[in-house]
Amino acid sequence: MAEIRTLPLVPLRGMMVFPNMMINVDIGRPRTAAAVEAAMIKDRQVFLVMQKDNDTEDPTRRDLYKVGAVVEVRQIFRLPGGIVRILIDCLRRGTIKGYRELENYAEVDIVEHYDKETNSREMEALTRAMAHKFEEWVRRSQRIPPETFVSISVMENSGRLADIIASHLNLQLEVKQDLLATFSVKRRMEKIYSLLVKELEILTIEQNIGSKLQQQVEKVQKDFYLREQIKVIKKELGDDEDKEEELSEYRKKIAEGDYPEEVKKALDKELRHLDLMPSMSSESAMVKMYVDWLIELPWNIATDDETEIKHAEEILEKDHYGLEKVKTRILEFLAVHRLTKDKQSPTILCLVGPPGVGKTSLASSVARAIGRKFVRVSLGGVRDEAEIRGHRRTYIGALPGRIIEGIKRAGSNNPVFLLDEVDKLSTSYQGDPSAALLEVLDPAQNVSFRDHYIDLSFDLSKVLWIVTANNLGNIPRPLRDRMEIITLSSYTEVEKLEIAKRYLFPRQREKNGLKMKSIRLGAGVIEEIITKYTKEAGVRELERELGALCRKAARSIVEGKEIPIVINKKNLVEFLEKPKYVKKRAEKEPQVGVATGMAWTEVGGDILPTEASVLTGKGELILTGQLGDVMQESARAGLSYIRSRSKTLKLADDFYKKHDLHIHLPEGAIPKDGPSAGITMATALVSALTKKKVRSDLAMTGEITLRGNVLPIGGLKEKVIAAYREGMKTIVLPKENERDIEDIPQVVRDKLEFVPVEHMDEVLKVALLSDK
Ligand code: ADP
Repeated sequence: MAEIRTLPLVPLRGMMVFPNMMINVDIGRPRTAAAVEAAMIKDRQVFLVMQKDNDTEDPTRRDLYKVGAVVEVRQIFRLPGGIVRILIDCLRRGTIKGYRELENYAEVDIVEHYDKETNSREMEALTRAMAHKFEEWVRRSQRIPPETFVSISVMENSGRLADIIASHLNLQLEVKQDLLATFSVKRRMEKIYSLLVKELEILTIEQNIGSKLQQQVEKVQKDFYLREQIKVIKKELGDDEDKEEELSEYRKKIAEGDYPEEVKKALDKELRHLDLMPSMSSESAMVKMYVDWLIELPWNIATDDETEIKHAEEILEKDHYGLEKVKTRILEFLAVHRLTKDKQSPTILCLVGPPGVGKTSLASSVARAIGRKFVRVSLGGVRDEAEIRGHRRTYIGALPGRIIEGIKRAGSNNPVFLLDEVDKLSTSYQGDPSAALLEVLDPAQNVSFRDHYIDLSFDLSKVLWIVTANNLGNIPRPLRDRMEIITLSSYTEVEKLEIAKRYLFPRQREKNGLKMKSIRLGAGVIEEIITKYTKEAGVRELERELGALCRKAARSIVEGKEIPIVINKKNLVEFLEKPKYVKKRAEKEPQVGVATGMAWTEVGGDILPTEASVLTGKGELILTGQLGDVMQESARAGLSYIRSRSKTLKLADDFYKKHDLHIHLPEGAIPKDGPSAGITMATALVSALTKKKVRSDLAMTGEITLRGNVLPIGGLKEKVIAAYREGMKTIVLPKENERDIEDIPQVVRDKLEFVPVEHMDEVLKVALLSDK
């Protein structure tokens, strides 16, 4: 039976002691202090036990745990405020068996417990395992200095070791109390081991949570840090802040502009590339150029249309003289375009006619009339598909094609876009530009036009396309089918005079800084310029000559000549040098073997003097002057007709056997073709053979058959206007072309005699002069 001891009781609040601990305990309650006092008189030993509830001020037996510790008071300090601090040495466990309230304090009867150490293998293993776990905990928790562990690990007594470990662990008081009440060393160690395992687990979880939070914070910091580092590195590499500035400039523009999602993405990607490139490299220059293109293209920018047709009419009227039919057609086109514009209207306006008749300026008027931007792109000589659609960016020096380039220049995605000279497109091994053009103009495809360089789809469907051509025949068929064709023809001299008076001269005068009163044109001066200085269907040369005139006048004024500078027919030569075209064709003497034909070319109509001569030889037909196949055949047909008529024409039966016949068309450098010179060549031949002169004021056109029938031809209007210009009086034309006379301007018609013919005999009858 264990011995019972009686000791003064010290109840503890909020703390626990384990045997083998040396610890300070502060005592505030008078009854407790009295208990210590009592102990000091005897053997300095008291019994420390924890009270179950911290708040109990005067605990009785029921308020206390049963198991506590026997301690020896080593020192007593008296602190201010009546607090007594005692340093105690904790000796061993004890269990309360009896309890008595004395006057000043309480005392308890206790039995003491000594640890029973057994030296079994199991105990040793358990001790080691516990020690290891504790070591791990010390290392990982870092709550106590590692030296503490060293001092502990040398301890041989397992129970003591367990108690010390227990005192270091951060356990709840109840758990600690339980450990205190566990007298079996083995049980105690087992409990501590599992507590350590649990603590380590908690530590792991804690560390995980900690490191996750840490990571989040770190990422932000790391990014910042890296960015700063990149800045430093770039600086070291010679990249300056200009680039940063440039990039932020770009970003700003992109943020402010209106771009489709796809474009924004592409821009973002390019800017990221740019950021990583050395700013002076050639790649970065290329990327920048591309970015500039993407930024500047008017992806979503459209101008508002002026919808008043009346307004359009006024502008067209104001900008151009005459052209009544053309203006009406354009207004109709605009009206239809307005009504169908949301329905993929497939029409493209095509203005066909010789140079200088106002196609370009009409197109720009259309733009003004409907309040849109205007761009003009010339397709003359374009042979490479890439010129329309751009080069891929992989090529050095790649650029977008002319379409995208024009759109950028326009600055809106719905401009009036003039494609000049579509008939001059040519194909080559570098792809077919007309196929690319077809795609541009096709409303089914141009909604997402993809330039090779830009490589993103651009919507071209809002563009109003106008194309011009000199020759309808040269426009690729599929293109032509989509077009609303409006033909403009040569101007007559009267029209040219009006245009010059109202538009060209005032414009040139102003351009050269002359006031209205500083220059005066005498009567007939413009007419003189038209007839003697120009020979054209349109008014380009005329405008140029008027410009030259104004320049000369301006110079005279600067040199001190008196104003107004008066220019009349007499002194015109001083201003414009010598006339280029002195004599009209018709004013020349009639000759044998020379007939006047009429030709239609891309630059308008022209007359075509045709010479024939008869040489001694052996029946050869010589054709010179770059005649095409059709024209050569036509000459042969003419000859056959003459041979069939040798009797009527009073020619020797074998005239062709002993002679060579030579037909030549002057201006030999210019290729000529077509069947319409048939009757002219035949007439020249007959004249040469019969020695009869051909009227020089008569011009003719018509195809000839073997039997001498005269077949219809094209381009009569242009031809006749040209003949009139050359002073012709009579026009011989195929009977079937008679209805085309209507198209010829009245002023011209009134001055000419038209002789429609069905057969070559009739031609000869009017064209050849009798011997007298
Ligand atoms: P195209 O494009 O048919 O070759 P342009 O439009 O370049 O011809 O015309 C040449 C010049 O003649 C321009 O200055 C234009 O304004 C002027 N012009 C042509 N036709 C007329 C007209 N009917 N009224 C006024 N000016 C005209």
